[in-house]
Amino acid sequence: MRLVLLGPPGAGKGTQAELIKEHFSIPHISTGDMLREARKNQTELGRKAEKYMEAGQLVPDSVVIGIVKERLSAPDCNKGFLLDGFPRTVKQAVALEESGVVLDGVINIQVPRQLLIERLSGRRICRQCGKAWHVEFNPPPEGICDCGGELYQRSDDSSETVSQRLDVYLEQTSPLVQWYEEKGLLQAIDGNQSIDEVFAAILAALEARR
Ligand code: ADP
Ligand code: AMP
Repeated sequence: MRLVLLGPPGAGKGTQAELIKEHFSIPHISTGDMLREARKNQTELGRKAEKYMEAGQLVPDSVVIGIVKERLSAPDCNKGFLLDGFPRTVKQAVALEESGVVLDGVINIQVPRQLLIERLSGRRICRQCGKAWHVEFNPPPEGICDCGGELYQRSDDSSETVSQRLDVYLEQTSPLVQWYEEKGLLQAIDGNQSIDEVFAAILAALEARR
């Protein structure tokens, strides 16, 4: 199963990725997580990506394409993978195609802009396991993650950066919806439902493709 999760920031890609990954036993590859890890470790990649991420801009294609190609060549991707947050531009999608990857499906999670803003502003992430919670929609038990980890707010989930990221999505990533639709790969999913309902809709859409 080779899948791409498409959708604006806050659509619920990371949340669904955790469930899809378990269900199909495939690695979850999040370019956002990889870049945040590189920043935390202050690697050359992390230092390069920092200013773009803080500004809510995309990290240059050449940088991101390089790290994804390397990750996809690891043995655990042989049986399939789930890409979350990549591709984000047509150039990235072309590079993925040209690297010989044949996708089984692209899941496009749709959520209205106002709700995306609410989801991003209330998002809290576990420092230990990376799980996303929401102060109102999916509150953490006793204020900490169920793994016991402490929660934090992503610096790019501040209100100014959120609206910038949503604009960047519209300008640079949303053209991929039509791009994948024309290739017959796109599955539109209503993301404005409970986490379990969205997951059930994704499984049903993937089942219908088989
Ligand atoms: P993305 O990876 O697309 O940016 P996340 O999976 O991190 O999005 O979800 C964004 C926020 O919305 C998180 O705080 C998450 O807990 C919450 N969330 C995700 N899916 C739902 C849902 N179906 N209903 C309500 N809140 C959700
Ligand atoms: P995310 O965790 O998916 O919300 O991504 C956080 C940030 O990482 C984005 O705002 C970008 O700055 C950067 N990023 C993640 N994935 C990509 C990508 N495929 N292309 C360019 N930048 C990316």
